[in-house]
Amino acid sequence: MAHGFRFVVAVLCAAATAFPVGAQDVADAQAPEAAGAGVVFGSLSPAADAALASKAAGDPVFSENWMVAAANPLAAEAGADVLRAGGTAADAMVAVQAVLGLVEPQSSGLGGGAFLVWYDAATKEVTTLDGRETAPLAARPTLFQDKDGAPLQFFDAVVGGLSVGTPGTPALMAEAHARWGRADWPLLFGDAIALAEEGFTVSPRLASLVAGDAERLSRFGPTAAYFLPGGVPLEAGDLLRNPAYGQTLRSLAAHGPATFYTGEIAHDIVSAVRTAAGNPGVLDLIDLAIYEVKERAPVCVPYRGADVCGMGPPSSGALSVGQILGMLEPYDLAGLGPDAPEAWRLFGDASRLAFADRGRFIADSDFVPVPTQGLVAPAYLQARSALLDSNTALEAVTPGAPEFDHALNWADDESLELPSTSHVSIVDTYGNALSMTTTIENAFGSRLMVRGFLLNNELTDFSFRTHADGAPIANRVAPGKRPRSSMAPTIVLRDGAPVLVVGSPGGSRIIPYVAKTIVAHLDWGLDPQAAVALPHLVNRFGTYDLEVGTAAAALEEPLVDLGYEVNIRALTSGLHAIALGEQLQGGADPRREGIALGE
Ligand code: GLU
Repeated sequence: MAHGFRFVVAVLCAAATAFPVGAQDVADAQAPEAAGAGVVFGSLSPAADAALASKAAGDPVFSENWMVAAANPLAAEAGADVLRAGGTAADAMVAVQAVLGLVEPQSSGLGGGAFLVWYDAATKEVTTLDGRETAPLAARPTLFQDKDGAPLQFFDAVVGGLSVGTPGTPALMAEAHARWGRADWPLLFGDAIALAEEGFTVSPRLASLVAGDAERLSRFGPTAAYFLPGGVPLEAGDLLRNPAYGQTLRSLAAHGPATFYTGEIAHDIVSAVRTAAGNPGVLDLIDLAIYEVKERAPVCVPYRGADVCGMGPPSSGALSVGQILGMLEPYDLAGLGPDAPEAWRLFGDASRLAFADRGRFIADSDFVPVPTQGLVAPAYLQARSALLDSNTALEAVTPGAPEFDHALNWADDESLELPSTSHVSIVDTYGNALSMTTTIENAFGSRLMVRGFLLNNELTDFSFRTHADGAPIANRVAPGKRPRSSMAPTIVLRDGAPVLVVGSPGGSRIIPYVAKTIVAHLDWGLDPQAAVALPHLVNRFGTYDLEVGTAAAALEEPLVDLGYEVNIRALTSGLHAIALGEQLQGGADPRREGIALGE
């Protein structure tokens, strides 16, 4: 059933890497780097070159013992070095994150936050850690409103100090290492320090994003000096050194996260935020000093006999992915296959129903009551699923009434998330699995750079408005609160053992990207490379987004006939998936620069 579509996907992926493409959005949606791209990433190991070639051919990478999939070959190599030496997935994550902050600085780093899902082979338990940024204690619900109470324009809020939340990533790295690491902490920074001090090759994606954001990057001295040396944007292939970042990593390696949260680095972060020209923020030393990673209860939802486990509030990721899958469960997606408009009607409307609930109910559950159990309760999902029993697109989609013991009188959320972010999937030789989505929010975050890394703009994931129609919005700003996220690091288990590790960047489209990849693997039997490469069809709020330049665009007419408004556009996910079976199989999103590596 799926073969025609799968074939087209493989051909498109191969074609995208072989021919230069014209339109910018097409370029953005497709692999920006050529196959066997040792040239564009500098000198890579033969395994990394082979992994790039596999990706270009549409094939998964196979391995016996361990695997790491990350958004840049240099970062995947750093993780592979740790895993090869007997490190755990938590150890490898530290090394991967340290390199990602250097080579993919626009997406994640020490100045950002992350969510991590861990499967422990010894205890067979899933643990989720919340390393999300917090709003400063001095933040007020009107943080992103002008003096008349009107919401700021998005980029007026993003660029500068106002949007910067207390970073969580360094604390999360240390917490994961303390819980599950085996390697010596300082050794995990070796690759990143060497690359920072000796230089790394600027990737095509980094160069094109710098060129596209040059005006904003030029506003702050240290940021401009790094990304636009002499006023000229970095180019792909440039050798770039970041000695300030090397020094920061040396400090982190030697002294642990205290150097970041209470030492000189903390002072520099606070100073950059509070003195940001034109848009100073309110972050203070106390916010860094009291920052803590929170362990949260994992959210697990059954689907096709498996358990799909991920990150609960303040992320909407696992709840919304779980709702989509839970609503689809009664329908025969396997029988329909990925070519059938009917499959996408069901998927798109399930997603719209999930997004309606997400906008109404999900926020930081330490600050507002969230009906976490109610949103994925079987009876509730069954009732929502019954709404899909139709022959046409749903005309109106409204939030449901999940069971809850608190009175709920929320208004629908308003917050905009534009894609940057990175996802890391790792399986180690002991059988542990790690899924982490990591971000500084917008590409290049707040554009403020301190000691070689960028500060996030995560606070703009809050709703800028506090109320709508007289009711409060759950995801409004509050001191110490964590902004709602869409990040959906996921581990799928069958009979208690992991079968798929997956996640993606992509703003709120993360949710349908991840849900679709799970459907592609579990219902349509696609291997992880084919599953991540499968063209995207995304519906969150009514309009159906179809991925430009792919077979998805062929579904335009049937979807219009079903009653959807359709928009053909770039859909730049960054999915990284590892399937666990007799062997490990890895897939890296052809829309970005990453690879899966294993032995
Ligand atoms: N800041 C977003 C979130 O936490 C992620 C942004 C992205 O994926 O690009 O949901």
